[in-house]
Amino acid sequence: MKRDYYEILGVSRSATAAEIKKAYRKMAIKYHPDKNPGDKQAEEKFKEAAEAYEVLSDPDKKARYDRYGHDAFQGAGGFGAHHMNMEDIFAQFGDIFGDIFGGGFSSQSRSHSYSSHRTVRSRGTDLRVRLKITLEDIIKGGEKKIKIKRKVKAPGTQYATCHQCGGTGRISRITNTIFGRMQTTGTCNVCHGTGQILHSREHGSDANGMLTKEDIVSVKLPKGVRNGVQLRVAGKGNEAPSNNGIPGDLIVQLIEISDDKFKREGNNLHHDLYISIPEAVLGTEKIMETPHGKIKLKLEEGIQPGKILRLKNKGVPDIDGYGYGDMLINVNVWMPKKLDKEQKEFFKKYFKHPNFQPNPGKSEKSFFEKIHDMFS
Ligand SMILES: [Zn+2]
Repeated sequence: MKRDYYEILGVSRSATAAEIKKAYRKMAIKYHPDKNPGDKQAEEKFKEAAEAYEVLSDPDKKARYDRYGHDAFQGAGGFGAHHMNMEDIFAQFGDIFGDIFGGGFSSQSRSHSYSSHRTVRSRGTDLRVRLKITLEDIIKGGEKKIKIKRKVKAPGTQYATCHQCGGTGRISRITNTIFGRMQTTGTCNVCHGTGQILHSREHGSDANGMLTKEDIVSVKLPKGVRNGVQLRVAGKGNEAPSNNGIPGDLIVQLIEISDDKFKREGNNLHHDLYISIPEAVLGTEKIMETPHGKIKLKLEEGIQPGKILRLKNKGVPDIDGYGYGDMLINVNVWMPKKLDKEQKEFFKKYFKHPNFQPNPGKSEKSFFEKIHDMFS
């Protein structure tokens, strides 16, 4: 069981960015490997705190974590302790300990990944787009095609190894601090951490040797998604300006378009059905267009307005795979606003007739009972 990130750093959920940073700094100093040589437990705590900080210091990741907890980082584009090595953690220190160590580092740790040879592989930036989805998309899921514009390396562009850092993208230095000697690693100020500098570029490309190219990306839409969910398509962001870089990711934010006929409430769908007086009195069958296709609805004789019909499993699929919500059909009876003489005479005949007198019995549930039923 993973511990809560706020708990790890010992801060409240409403902590400000400055408070989170301060709390992490305290943890990092306490559990720093240089202060706890050979202490595996301290190292674990050190890594745990770094992971918590990595998430809570990034407004986007923090928002996702606040909403979905650790689930926010599972699956593709996932995130966990294993993804951070000690070098990544130290790289954060440029930001965190800037004021203790006198500054001078800018942390770009998140824009790199390292191979086992410790040579830097620069990573392109992530691209963000919004995708509008309909209720039908949400119910059916499937592939969506999105047109994007991403930065790609121009064919003739060449990069050379950075002379300052020798291609590692990092510069280390030893600093004497209040808690002893510490080695910190910062981003190279010549190549900005990519390990490479532009050697020659093609005419028409930008200052980094890149071109902007249109691309069609297909995104797999899970069933049951909701507004604001972000999908990550690995490798479909901007390419990195280097010879051996890896592209960033495409982040697709889903925008749910509200449906005209069906109002979504969690996994349930609500629909207002209007029927005529003769239909209510005599009963009828209705064919309804729904996002699940056509549905035949049987309305019994003498159905009361306000009756709610529940169609099991005709709502929205649960995003975690726990079946479907229901469709709730609210029956309204349409009162005619204009009647001709003959029609008025018809109703006048039955003004006092016992069959037309309201007589709500036990079978007619009250408004409050219906509300109660709906939510139980
Ligand atoms: Zn460099």
